[in-house]
Amino acid sequence: MAQYQKKESSKHKGLAIHESGLIIDPQHPYLAATPDRIRNCDCCGKILLEVKSLFSKRNLVSHIAAQDYLQKKGKVYFLREESNWNYQIQGQLGLARMEQCDLIIYTQKGIMVVSVAFNQSLWEQMLLKLKIISYFIRGPRIVW
Ligand SMILES: [Zn+2]
Repeated sequence: MAQYQKKESSKHKGLAIHESGLIIDPQHPYLAATPDRIRNCDCCGKILLEVKSLFSKRNLVSHIAAQDYLQKKGKVYFLREESNWNYQIQGQLGLARMEQCDLIIYTQKGIMVVSVAFNQSLWEQMLLKLKIISYFIRGPRIVW
C-alpha cells in the first residue's frame, strides 16, 4: 500500500487512502462487502482499492504472476471479465455504489495497478443469482 500511495500521490491532488468498514446494501441486506481500502482525491473522487498477492508466485513479476486473471490489449492490462477477482470486485463496487476500482497486484518484484470499471449489467446478473441463493440459504451474509 505504501508503494501504491507513493506511485499515485504525485499524479493526484490531495490523495488520501483510508480503510473501509463493512458495507451493507440496505436494498440487499444479505450482501456485504469489505473493500481493502478506499482512496479519495480532488481530481478523481472515490476509488475502491483491492490488493492481491499470489503467494506461490511471489518471485515472479506481477503481470506474469497474475497472467491467468489478466488480458492484454495493446500495452494495457485488463482484468478478465470471467475471473473470480472480477466477480469479487464487481460485487464490492455494486454494493459500495462506486464506479472504479484500482486492483493492486503485488509480488516481491513490485506492484502493478489494473484499473477496473464497474460493469452494471454483470452486477445485475450477479444480483439475480445471489437473490436466488439467499432465498435458499437465509443464513449468514455473503461477504466479499
Ligand atoms: Zn485523482
